[in-house]
Amino acid sequence: MAIELRKMGFSDFTIIEKASEFGGTWRDHIYPGCASDVPMHLFSLSTELNPGWTHTHAFQPEIQSYRLRLAHKYERYSKVMFNSTVVSATWDSGLHSYEVVVEVVARKDKEKEIRMTAGIVVSAVGLLEVPRFPNIPGRETSFRGTSFHSARWDASVDLAGKKVAVVGSGPSATQFVPIISGDPTTHVTQYRRSPSWILPPTRQKYSTTQLWLLKNIPFWPMALRTFYYLRVVNMQMVRTYMQQVTPPEYLDQVVPSHSDHKVGCKRVVFDTNYLSSLGRPNLGLCWDAIERFDEEGIVTKNGSTPFDVIIFATGYVTDRYPIHVKGNKGQTIAEYYEAQGGPTAYLGTTIPGFPNFFTFAGPNTATGHSSVLLTVEIQVRYILQLIRPLLSKQLLSFDVTPAATDAYNAQVQTRLGRFVWSKCASWYRTGDTGKIHTQFPGPMSLYGWWMRRVEWRDYDVVPAVGEWRSVGLGQRLLFLGLGWMRVGWRRGP
Ligand SMILES: Cc1cc2nc3c(=O)[nH]c(=O)nc-3n(C[C@H](O)[C@H](O)[C@H](O)COP(=O)(O)OP(=O)(O)OC[C@H]3O[C@@H](n4cnc5c(N)ncnc54)[C@H](O)[C@@H]3O)c2cc1C
Repeated sequence: MAIELRKMGFSDFTIIEKASEFGGTWRDHIYPGCASDVPMHLFSLSTELNPGWTHTHAFQPEIQSYRLRLAHKYERYSKVMFNSTVVSATWDSGLHSYEVVVEVVARKDKEKEIRMTAGIVVSAVGLLEVPRFPNIPGRETSFRGTSFHSARWDASVDLAGKKVAVVGSGPSATQFVPIISGDPTTHVTQYRRSPSWILPPTRQKYSTTQLWLLKNIPFWPMALRTFYYLRVVNMQMVRTYMQQVTPPEYLDQVVPSHSDHKVGCKRVVFDTNYLSSLGRPNLGLCWDAIERFDEEGIVTKNGSTPFDVIIFATGYVTDRYPIHVKGNKGQTIAEYYEAQGGPTAYLGTTIPGFPNFFTFAGPNTATGHSSVLLTVEIQVRYILQLIRPLLSKQLLSFDVTPAATDAYNAQVQTRLGRFVWSKCASWYRTGDTGKIHTQFPGPMSLYGWWMRRVEWRDYDVVPAVGEWRSVGLGQRLLFLGLGWMRVGWRRGP
């Protein structure tokens, strides 16, 4: 979004980022083995393809350096306030703008809280940003050892010679368990709740020939990107793969039956030597429910097991909006979501009652198998259409109507009922079993089609003077995940 605004020649915007560097997910996730599970030529900006990706699926350092390269290339460092957390944004109907309150963490000698005014607010806080912990007694209060979430990996903790518990079995745990258990002195016990489908590995190193083609044949990266987009994973082969690779003593425990849940119902997990590592003597699985944490470790129905370190790989909070944003009806986004039975938006981008406000990777925009950047690029193109009349001061504000939002979501939820995600509990659903709030009911090409132009009749607009009529706008699109962005009318800091 920042890059595209600059391309439009618009520079009155500020990126507000609570951390001290760009990168988001790929800055924070430093656990061993952290890698993309989407091919990198798809998980890149369409306008910034990178022929130099070393692997089909890159590890975190390579992804982060791609993101930082873009930040330098487009001089985004000049537009950012680092170490600054947005705590609230409140719409002022008189001023047609938000008052944004920012807590600056690294400026001890100056005022800690900054208030700014923004005509447009773009929320880019990420879907998988707030670590989720299990609600089990004693987690914070009792355990005396070291514990952390995989999303905030504590690299200062040396796991050699330690007894380590891993709680959870999603993609993150599947990536780091084979690596930490690769040290035979580290004794790992993984606490799992249920078996899950694990797909055959997909990561491959590009050969010298492939890299040459990517670097020297201009259309090759785009051709590869299209191939990855259209590629279909053969779900039927998953069971056969798991049966072949899993150590025999674990077959009954690890391989789900189709009556447990269907492949793809939860976020897909690709094998990264996880299944074969189960044969290691220093790695064990525990399927007993954790009843509580005590001073020493973990208590199940079979008693207490002591650990030096407990690592939570228990996912993210996806069903609550994390910032206090208040709109023109006195309601916050969190309250609106709650009233709707879970996160809800129009085209996953605008929310009724919250004028001039956008949310990236918002409700029902994910696919579970494709690149989030595809979604965000589509959203940027849509948002640019909407904000153009605001930036040119023809409009003061626009607000998507509740009727358009309700009709859109009724359609989305009806379609979702036909998808596999409605057949099992997962974090795709509010409270794990409620409405599906993360997934889009179809391919990204359908989302792109629905988002190709703004239906202005779905918005209540406030013109600056007299009447206003929409005009078409063709804009190229581009976006890289950022923190929080406010645009326009500036009063501070
Ligand atoms: C382990 C892991 C692997 C993943 N793999 C893939 C993959 O292979 N393919 C894929 O498409 N997606 C993947 N994802 C999803 C991934 O989150 C997105 O692809 C993408 O990185 C999201 O970018 P973003 O900028 O929207 O959000 P994020 O990367 O989450 O960035 C959000 C930013 O907002 C900042 N922020 C949050 N709250 C505030 C606040 N109040 N004030 C100021 N700043 C704030 C954060 O510090 C952060 O920098 C993965 C996620 C995880 C966790």
